[in-house]
Amino acid sequence: MNNPLVYLNSNGSGSLTPLSEAKVSVLDRGFIFGDGIYEVIPVYAKKMFRAEQHMARLLRSLAAIGMPNPHSKEEWLQLLQQVMDAHSGDDQMLYLQVTRGVAKRAHAFPAEMVPTVFIMSNPLTPISSEVRAKGVICVAMEDQRWLHCEIKSTSLLGNVLAAQNAVEHGAMESIQFRDGYLTEGSSSNVWIVKGDVVIGPPKDNLILEGIRYGLLQELCAAQQIPLQERRVTRAEVFAADEVLLTSAGKEVLAVVKIDDQTIGKGLPGPIYQQLYAAYQEAKAAN
Ligand code: PMP
Repeated sequence: MNNPLVYLNSNGSGSLTPLSEAKVSVLDRGFIFGDGIYEVIPVYAKKMFRAEQHMARLLRSLAAIGMPNPHSKEEWLQLLQQVMDAHSGDDQMLYLQVTRGVAKRAHAFPAEMVPTVFIMSNPLTPISSEVRAKGVICVAMEDQRWLHCEIKSTSLLGNVLAAQNAVEHGAMESIQFRDGYLTEGSSSNVWIVKGDVVIGPPKDNLILEGIRYGLLQELCAAQQIPLQERRVTRAEVFAADEVLLTSAGKEVLAVVKIDDQTIGKGLPGPIYQQLYAAYQEAKAAN
């Protein structure tokens, strides 16, 4: 049985334990309210990719939900490293979750709070080269989530329903729109390319700022590809030359069809190719 070591700190005592033995109380506020935040950090060749940026987002999420940070940055990195080292694979996906701990069920914050910290790692399964070569199909839907999408919260029901909507339409991802404007996917940021310009929705409360958001900005700057952060209409998405998804798992991925409409030439385009190549170089240089 696959029973990897995970880190669990519940009720104040933390240790590496086999996944099958890692248990939390049913009164954990993560279970009862979805009261927690998380991070997903890719690991290439046994090294975390963009660890600093993930740590910064972790702190932003904790602060946004008024949760004291239970660890220094060095401690966080040490805990992540321990879980990573306990796994044999070179390429992994680290998952870290912090909840507001165990307390009698009441909505407002408990007076005394010990956060529950959980870290696991899974093998990283890359998008196959066949899928990359063809590009992926997406489905458009209304964004039905709350107005704090900038927080990487474990309350993911809206995202879960959007991901399920994609599955039910045979699509890779749902591309969400709020009031006629592009927001993001269920678990990815979405970009359009028009001419030689990459355009993405602004980093506000309507999207999660992916770690690949900043990375794409850096890659575009290095490749001298202009990038605009601005509102993008639904019509602009369907009329784009290219549409791209970014996330830890997808890296940069080309969208070739949304609903029944072909995007651009119906194949991964030149800006995708350029940014994907640059992404691979950034990984190699990590
Ligand atoms: N938006 C949402 C809603 C997500 O869940 C994710 C994936 N965590 C992203 C964007 C992309 O973030 P990242 O580049 O950090 O994977």
